[in-house]
Amino acid sequence: MFSTMQDVPLTVTRILVHGALAHGKAQVVTWTGDGEPQRRTFHEVGLRSIQLANALHDELGVEEGQVVGSLMWNNCEHLEAYLAVPSMGAVLHTLNLRLPAAQLTWVVNHAADRVIIVNGSLLPLLAPLLPGLKSVEHVVVAGPGDRSVLDGCRATVHDYEELIEGRPVRYPWPVIDERRAAALCYTSGTTGDPKGVAYSHRSIYLHSMQINSVEGFGMSGKEMVLPVVPMFHANAWGTTHSAFMTGASILMPDRFLQPGPLADMIETVRPTVSAAVPTIWQGLLAELDARPRDVSSLREVYIGGAACPPSLMKAFEERHGIRVVHAWGMTELSPLGSVAHPPAGLTAEEEWRYRESQGLFPASVEYRLTSADGELVPLDGTSVGELEVRGPWIAGAYFGGAEGEPFRPEDKFTPDGWLKTGDVGAITEDGFLTLTDRAKDVIKSGGEWISSVELENHLMAHPDVAEAAVVAVPDEKWGERPLATVVLKDGSGIGYEALRAFLSERVAHWQLPERWALIEEVPKTSVGKFDKKVIRRRYADGELEVTQLA
Ligand code: ADP
Repeated sequence: MFSTMQDVPLTVTRILVHGALAHGKAQVVTWTGDGEPQRRTFHEVGLRSIQLANALHDELGVEEGQVVGSLMWNNCEHLEAYLAVPSMGAVLHTLNLRLPAAQLTWVVNHAADRVIIVNGSLLPLLAPLLPGLKSVEHVVVAGPGDRSVLDGCRATVHDYEELIEGRPVRYPWPVIDERRAAALCYTSGTTGDPKGVAYSHRSIYLHSMQINSVEGFGMSGKEMVLPVVPMFHANAWGTTHSAFMTGASILMPDRFLQPGPLADMIETVRPTVSAAVPTIWQGLLAELDARPRDVSSLREVYIGGAACPPSLMKAFEERHGIRVVHAWGMTELSPLGSVAHPPAGLTAEEEWRYRESQGLFPASVEYRLTSADGELVPLDGTSVGELEVRGPWIAGAYFGGAEGEPFRPEDKFTPDGWLKTGDVGAITEDGFLTLTDRAKDVIKSGGEWISSVELENHLMAHPDVAEAAVVAVPDEKWGERPLATVVLKDGSGIGYEALRAFLSERVAHWQLPERWALIEEVPKTSVGKFDKKVIRRRYADGELEVTQLA
């Protein structure tokens, strides 16, 4: 028997129309540095999105299925593109503005972007690339910036405001198959070449509902969300779609992502929820210590994208009364995989154990752990394996293989349709995930595995340590051994012996690193994660001053 229910496609168009009408008074506030922040209501944003769709269609000839790139910070115009482009049946390709030039060129050409909407402040980045961007016919410039750098370029240049001004505030939205692509995002390539993930209307819709839920980020009209995570990094983790669905106002940081301006905008505009990678919060914490601000509006911050050091969670909670919620995700998962909301009825100590984990999977994310030879690993909280996942907002392939067809590399997708995450960890009987490492970062020492993340977390809990990254280096006797690279806090003169003694109270003796090096800063990827590839290369090239303890 088939159901008797209506079969209505789940589309971004629904999110646009609903937000503009039902939550018309909610606000998008974009930080502008020194001046007054720019403020628009959801109603205004909705109308401007419709005008943008009209302009793209009538003036630039954008058709269904074509790709529109965005090289933009988190701001109101970027949100307008988020809503307009998929609703008209085209695909929004969010470009990672921190990618090296060659990779940026590669992804634009690979996705065949016809139009690029770019912030004026990013023109110096785009202009030199344009001759190599074969498919780009139009460049639409939003916000302040010197347009003259585009003089003589092959593409037609438009001003965003002039382009949308006076356009109709109605659009004949096409009926879209919910399985069609709405947005395209390439992985940031922490462990290899970028790969394209084409999100569907349906996957964005379902994922946003999960972000809305109390199990997710608990979004509602009572909240104001500050997405520090870029809109080019897995759709700002769904926060902006989710806000438009629920009426949570949005504080957009634009290009002001340094700790100082972030603290200023939190104090002035008073967001209640925020999301970013750990390095951003480390920076903010140091800033608040140096120059205190009132950040009491923040109820909860979501930290993910890399393992969150427990010491960071505790510092925010104890010193600023802000609850940190740890979450795990990947570009391939839209990105939400798991969130660490602990169950009820725990002692304070037990509760911390749950909160430090990567958390619980929602009903739509099916999970299993497998061993290197493909056997299932028991979910008993201690047995470790590679995490595999399956579900309606999880990629089943990458975009654009050799013949333009989706492709499924064997190391990423199993024949029975699971995504191999490349993350290694354990899952408890009650479903909580603890990651010990990325498969590529695990230290394989004499047949035993050492978790680089565990060593880092302990080191970063030491009062003299600002940052620490641990990587595997070749070792004649053991195959691999850990190398600890450490950034000390200003003025600290602590020695390696003392740091190792600190670690020895916390991990087994055979896990203690013999090799140590002081560095000025841990190198970061384009989305702000520790870049261990670079540390391994520096070690191999003899660029690090390594001390070997007996
Ligand atoms: P990239 O793979 O290029 O870094 P992603 O943002 O998709 O881009 O990264 C996903 C990866 O980030 C995960 O596979 C995992 O290794 C890591 N990650 C994300 N969240 C966490 C977390 N809370 N703890 C540990 N690792 C995390």
